[in-house]
This record gives sequence, C-alpha cells and structure tokens, in this order.
Amino acid sequence: MTHFLLIPALFIIILSKQFPCLVALSRNHFFIGENPIKEFTQKQIAVLSTFVEPDRFSVGQSSRELHLHDISPHLGTLPAGIIWPITTDEVSQILTWTYDQGIPVTPWGAGTSTEGNPVPTRGGLVLDFTRMDKILEIRPQDLQADVQPGVLRKEVNRQAGKYGLFFPVDPGADASIGGMIANNASGVQTVKYGATKDCVMKMTVILPQGKVIHTGCKAGKSSSGYDLTRLFIGSEGTLGVVTEATLRLTGIPSNHLAALITFDDLESAASAVSLMIGSGLEPAALELLTPGLINLMNREKGLGLKEVPTLFCEFHGISKTALLETSDFAKELTESCGATSFKFGIEERDREDLWRARHEAWETIHRAHPGKETLIVDAAIPISRYPEMVLFSQVLVEERNAVGYVFGHAGDGNLHVVMAGDPKDRREWSVLEDINDSIVTRAVELGGTCTGEHGVGIGKRKFMDLEHGQSYELMKAIKKLVDPKGLMNPDKIFF
Ligand SMILES: Cc1cc2nc3c(=O)[nH]c(=O)nc-3n(C[C@H](O)[C@H](O)[C@H](O)COP(=O)(O)OP(=O)(O)OC[C@H]3O[C@@H](n4cnc5c(N)ncnc54)[C@H](O)[C@@H]3O)c2cc1C
Repeated sequence: MTHFLLIPALFIIILSKQFPCLVALSRNHFFIGENPIKEFTQKQIAVLSTFVEPDRFSVGQSSRELHLHDISPHLGTLPAGIIWPITTDEVSQILTWTYDQGIPVTPWGAGTSTEGNPVPTRGGLVLDFTRMDKILEIRPQDLQADVQPGVLRKEVNRQAGKYGLFFPVDPGADASIGGMIANNASGVQTVKYGATKDCVMKMTVILPQGKVIHTGCKAGKSSSGYDLTRLFIGSEGTLGVVTEATLRLTGIPSNHLAALITFDDLESAASAVSLMIGSGLEPAALELLTPGLINLMNREKGLGLKEVPTLFCEFHGISKTALLETSDFAKELTESCGATSFKFGIEERDREDLWRARHEAWETIHRAHPGKETLIVDAAIPISRYPEMVLFSQVLVEERNAVGYVFGHAGDGNLHVVMAGDPKDRREWSVLEDINDSIVTRAVELGGTCTGEHGVGIGKRKFMDLEHGQSYELMKAIKKLVDPKGLMNPDKIFF
C-alpha cells in the first residue's frame, strides 16, 4: 500500500522538477512557470521597502493569496510580494531594479479577467494598481480625460457625466482602465462606439527595464509612424506597464430607445442580427439572449420575459422622432426574419433593469450553479457567419449534455458560452474544454478570432498559432525585443 502511494508521489516530485508547467496544469489548472521566485530574500525586501511607504508593500500571505487568481480556474504561483504604486516614477524605479535582479513582474488591475491574464505564474512581484486611481484632468472641450490606470471605468463615467460625457467601453465588470487597456476590453456598446483601442489616444508606458515612454498624442488623428499605442493596447502587460492614459470621451446621447425582439428559433434571431447590421441601422447595443439565460434572469430578477430567443437592442439618437423612424425600420427588418414580437419604448426603469440583468449574466449563472466554476467561451466571427456559429455552439452544448448558456454581443459577432462545471472533476471539465476548443477552432476557421474581448492570458495561448501563423512569430520577436529577459507578465499570450 505504501509503495502504491510512494511511487506516484516520487514520480510527481521528479516531474515537477523537470517540467513545472506540465505538472502544474495537470494539477487542476495550477500554473507554475519556470524558475519561480516564491520568496524575496531579506536583502530584496529591504530594497523593495525603499521604493514606497510601508503600507504599500507587502509580503504577507493573505495579500499574496488575493493575487493568485482572477475569475477563471487558472491558479498562479504565489507571488513573493505586492507593491501598490501611485506614481510613474515609482513604477520606473521598481522596474529598473526588478529587471536588473531578474524578478518577474505581473501588473494587476481589478482582477476580473477570465483567462488568467493577471495571474502571476512565476511568483515574483505583483504591481497592484488599485491605489493609482486618480482622474488627473477632464477636458470637456476636447472630449478627453487623463487618468491613472487603477481608476475604475464606472468612476470615470461618474466624473465625466458631470460634463455630459462618458467613456463608452462597458465590459460587464467594473474593470480598471489599465486592465481594460491591457486586454483591449469591449462591451455591449462596442458595436457603436468601438473597443478600448478606439477610445485611448495617448499613454505613458514604463518598459520592462524601467524606461518611461509616451505613445500617441491628443490630436484626433495622426499618421506619425508606427502606432505604438495600439501595440501596447491588448498586450496584457507583457511589454510594459501603463501608468497614464488619455481617454477619448463621447457625449451622453440625448435620446435612447431600447427594444426587445423575440423569435421562435435561434437561427431567425441570429439572422436578424446580420440583417440589422448590414442595413446600416447602427444600434448602440445588440445583444442575443437565449431561453436558458432568460429563464435564469427571470428567476433571479423577476423580469417576466418570454423564454424564447431574444434580441435586446438599443439605439441612440438626436431626437425621439429620428429614433422612432429607426425603430420602425428595425421592426420591419426583424419581422422579415420571423420576429414574433417587437417591444420598444421601454420605460427607463425597465430598461435599466434589463441592462443590469444582462451585465450581471455571469454572476447569475454562477449563483444558479453553486459550487461550480465557469469556463467562458469568447470567440468572434464575421457577422454573416453569426447564425451558424450560434447554432453550432448551442447544438454542441446540448449534444455533450453540458451546462452552458449561449449569448453574446451579437452586433459585433462576439459569441459567449458560459459553461458551469467542476475543474476538479476531470471528466466533466474536459467536456467543457472540448466544447471551448471546438467553438474557438470553428471561429478561427470562419475567419474570426479566438478571443473577441477577454484576451489570451493563459487559456487562449494554444489557439494563437492557428489564428496568426507567422504573425505569431512576429509577436514573439517583438516581445523578445522589448523584454529580452521575459520578465513582464510571463507565460501570458506566449508559451
Ligand atoms: C462579470 C464579468 C463580465 C465581463 N464582461 C466583459 C465584457 O463584456 N467585455 C470584456 O472585454 N471583458 C469582460 N470581462 C473581463 C474583464 O472584466 C476585462 O477583461 C477587463 O478588462 C479586466 O480588467 P481588470 O481591471 O480586472 O484587469 P485585470 O484582470 O487585473 O488585468 C488584466 C490584464 O491587464 C494587465 N494590467 C493591469 N493593469 C495594467 C497596467 N497598468 N499596465 C499594464 N498591464 C496592466 C494585467 O497584467 C492583465 O494581463 C468580464 C468579466 C467579468 C467578471
């Protein structure tokens, strides 16, 4: 009996020495990268303590554990310490020293990522930006705001709202601007206002060696050389750290109109999406909800919605009359695709309730499946392929008897399937992973992408070659050029 346990244990110890990443992954998503720095030496602690005040540096166990995972099942390697910087100078000094010491650094925003993006895989230092959260200036005449990376998007909107302005990128979570920049986040209004990459004009970035650079400008357009702003946006903290950003704001629309459109089947609903986008209707949001998710939303929020495939959309415009004309046209189009009802002119409170319910879909699914974790599929395809992609995903979930809810930012061809399961139950979880793999692979084959908005992190690296081919090699070369020691957020985007 003793031998029976001893041999596999010895095998695991040997394996973990030789192939730390491999063992880590087989151990329920624990990820231990190569040569992790699990503890700082007393000498290193003494130096780190000189960079910030005592209450902004910690090697305490609980602070470190709080930075071990985002909302995904990807668990990292306990960082050796956390620093909460508040200035660009501090970040520059810290990175100069960590680079010299060969210490891995992982930036942390609000920790709401879904692919292990801010999870430290090699221990080292976590730079937590939650205290670097100032709105430095709002310039209403330019429709711009200068912000620090830790400010949350809802706070930006609270302050910009005083000038009749808003920052239109609205992921479901109240994410930090730094995290949104790093993941190139988007949201329900991206179909009209664009993703983070469209709403950031200028940035201050600290390179892995501690050098401070400024990218972009405050003019509305520029053709001045390589677009470094967009190189860093979506780089997930693998190329450097953002310490300041100039955001492009938008005027809060004076009129909006929300509409709920129901269908008998998913195919008709998805076809209506392509038709509405193709007709130039320019919705400000166009979301697809499936009966399973509506059922949960009804149960939790008492919404009383019909449990059938439904499009929830919104239009923004300069006058009520213009919006009514738009909605007449939308009604005509969707009826031609088989819409069974078209309800518009929804009262303000109902509209807010509906959007809140939509934004809280992930939490609702979580609550409906206590003790389970979620695997969130995030793929995007050309809008014309949306109907077949939705059907493909729904059928796959049903065929494999998985718990999964299909929905998405239909207006930009972004599909989500939130699946619930237990990562410790390898059989159950591998079914969910298979479904994820099949949907993502199909999306890439259809000319789409393995991630519409959540980023690559740890979870999507395996699809990068398939999607990008030689371009992935160029990305690796850029990473090597900017961060030759591979210390900035290691093991993300790249293996
Ligand atoms: C309920 C829910 C709904 C969601 N809905 C959406 C959605 O609709 N659309 C969407 O796009 N996402 C969505 N997400 C995912 C997530 O909110 C976004 O990806 C968001 O951008 C992450 O921001 P964060 O502040 O939490 O960053 P984190 O998760 O802390 O970090 C994200 C990445 O940014 C890096 N980073 C953080 N700060 C900096 C910095 N200053 N400089 C450089 N790198 C930095 C981290 O290292 C990491 O790679 C959702 C998540 C949840 C939980």
